Amino acid sequence: VSEDKVTFCRICEPFCGLVATVEDGRIVGVRGDRDNPFSQGFCCAKGVAMADVVTDPDRVIEPLRRCGGPGEFVPVPWDEALDDVARRLRAIVDEQGGHAFGGFIGNPPYFSYSAPMFFQGFLDAVGTKWKYGVNAEDAASRIAANAILYGSAALLLKPDLWRTDFAILIGANPLVSHGSVVSEPRIREALDAIAARGGRVVVIDPRRTETARRYEHVPVRGGTDAWLLAALCNVIIEHGLADRAFVDAHTTGYDAFAAALARFTPEHCAPRCRVPATTITALAREFAAAPNGVVYGRTGTCTQRFGTLNNLLQDAINILTGRIERRGGWVVGWGPIDFEAYAEKSGLSTYGAVRSRVTGLPDVNGQLASSALAADITTPGEGQVRALLTMGANPVISSGGGGRDLEDALEQLELHFSLDLYVNETNKHAQYIFPVTTFFEREDVPLLVMGNMLRPAVMATEAVVAPPPGVRQEWEILNELARRMGLGGAYSAPALRRLAKLGLRVKPRPMIDAMLRLSDAGDRFGLRRNGISFKKLLTRHPHGVVLQEELPIRPLETRLRTADRRIPLGAAPLLEQLRRLADFEERGDFPLRVIGMRELRSQNTWMHNVARLMPDGRVQRALVHPDDATAAGLEDGRLATISSETGTVTVAIEVTTDMTPGTIAVPHGWGHNGGWRRANGAGGANSNELALARPADVEALAGMSILNGIPVRLARTPLTPEARERDTVSI
Ligand code: SF4
Repeated sequence: VSEDKVTFCRICEPFCGLVATVEDGRIVGVRGDRDNPFSQGFCCAKGVAMADVVTDPDRVIEPLRRCGGPGEFVPVPWDEALDDVARRLRAIVDEQGGHAFGGFIGNPPYFSYSAPMFFQGFLDAVGTKWKYGVNAEDAASRIAANAILYGSAALLLKPDLWRTDFAILIGANPLVSHGSVVSEPRIREALDAIAARGGRVVVIDPRRTETARRYEHVPVRGGTDAWLLAALCNVIIEHGLADRAFVDAHTTGYDAFAAALARFTPEHCAPRCRVPATTITALAREFAAAPNGVVYGRTGTCTQRFGTLNNLLQDAINILTGRIERRGGWVVGWGPIDFEAYAEKSGLSTYGAVRSRVTGLPDVNGQLASSALAADITTPGEGQVRALLTMGANPVISSGGGGRDLEDALEQLELHFSLDLYVNETNKHAQYIFPVTTFFEREDVPLLVMGNMLRPAVMATEAVVAPPPGVRQEWEILNELARRMGLGGAYSAPALRRLAKLGLRVKPRPMIDAMLRLSDAGDRFGLRRNGISFKKLLTRHPHGVVLQEELPIRPLETRLRTADRRIPLGAAPLLEQLRRLADFEERGDFPLRVIGMRELRSQNTWMHNVARLMPDGRVQRALVHPDDATAAGLEDGRLATISSETGTVTVAIEVTTDMTPGTIAVPHGWGHNGGWRRANGAGGANSNELALARPADVEALAGMSILNGIPVRLARTPLTPEARERDTVSI
């Protein structure tokens, strides 16, 4: 019997509506849901290919216990594994305190509503402040900038693309990433519509990306965005283009900011960023003159040496031109569940409230940088991490420096247990791996992105297939471990832990249902007839419902969380970073710059084992400009050695004028050596190996791994005849 089941994707932020065709409990097809009013039928290859993860023979479908070296595991019954982990963790915490335990959460579980909730609950129940994650390879600098400018790490602004006339995208490639820190499955249509109504989309990037090709491209040297952004601000100020009425009403510190920018003239910055001064001046003037506009940047700018400064300066352009919380500008957004209030109440919207114990890096939204973990494990003393939970995380591959020290550190732990779909390069060092569900096997609500949608929508889904018998959801595993440790359950609220000890263990469904019912769109438990609940979403809106076609614009002072309800343009971290930028000297002995690159058929480090995305013969290619290839004696398809001060990778190159001279793009997520056969067999190199992982080389304000703008050299790789046969690839 074949049945179509409506659901939605939870691989990345658009949360596209899907229809899964199920036969005899197996998914036999996946397509975009045309009746979903939010995504209107759009879905990408990854959403379709996710069905293959469900049946992947390399997937972990029963608990595993380490029986030898890294990666050597045997199956073990659930009870035995849970009892042993609970007993050992209890003993470590009893003897050394709650801070002897740490948790690391990766990207995939964040797209479930229940997994991050119970992960935090487990950490709180055990009593540790050590929560690590992948934000320092992603958006931590964006969030830190929000905390500095707007007074809250949870206040995430988004580009009002459907109503803007001038969008500057910097370090963002939404035609491939499908948008980030903004949820809009129809982002290409939104950008096309700008051009169609006579507006402009300008893409600033070292590579002529898929997005840059479709609109206007301004090439920039890798890792130098801060100089370009500072020069744009300088032109707006020096040419009298600032919206002084807005600035006077909503900001403080304008004069100090203007003084700090005085030296960053287009002529001064052009040699650094390699954008002509005339182009910088024209872009600033045209952007300021547009009826409305927005600057939006993402991981490309975030993961640089001046990542937080980049975000501060992007926003400064929006602020100086009066585009904050304005139609077509940089807006606070709205979701039925006030995520910002939820994060603040849950103590999650922090910045610098906790510092990593050895490197002293600040938490961002409660999360510590991945690069801090190895030293926190290996350095003896108060709060040393002796037991670790990794959940859907692979920092050995994804962290800056390629997790160089982390593999050794993981082997020194007294206990490491993991919740994951696969044996990866990180949890192969664990003592236990607990198997978890795919998104097709669990209920959900898009809690994380509800406040990020450009057309605020809400939807709910049941599981469309049952998980394999040996597989459980993350929340079930963590709740059960907490119970066996005598903690009641994996709840942040002490009252819920007390109830659990009495035998009343609240499941996540009533928790999210209450949040939905009490939300701005909720049914208030029957008081509002047309309001939503989890059940009403399933029955009345099975394809989801768009709640607002446009983002509401509200008085800015009501949105800001700073004490004086103004934006501090003279904030000390911003001025201090501008001083550092002015003094920064580039190294001449590594003349080229490496940037990362996201591919359409790849999702960070975890989707390389799917044949549909990783067919035989697909190879990793570093993109190199012809001038740089010629200088290194390289031709198209040849293996090249790329060396930074601390790491070296060998990778085939594609010679292309899509790159700006001096910058090389290396796709990330390759170079596997875990328990996934196809991913291992695909070869390639881990581009993050090139990152400099010393404490001094981590971005200062958010602990970002510096993955873009890494100084490197490029050389021809000497090949033996056998290697030539094996490694030379035709592109
Ligand atoms: S764009 Fe993201 S959410 Fe949409 S189908 Fe692709 S992976 Fe899933």
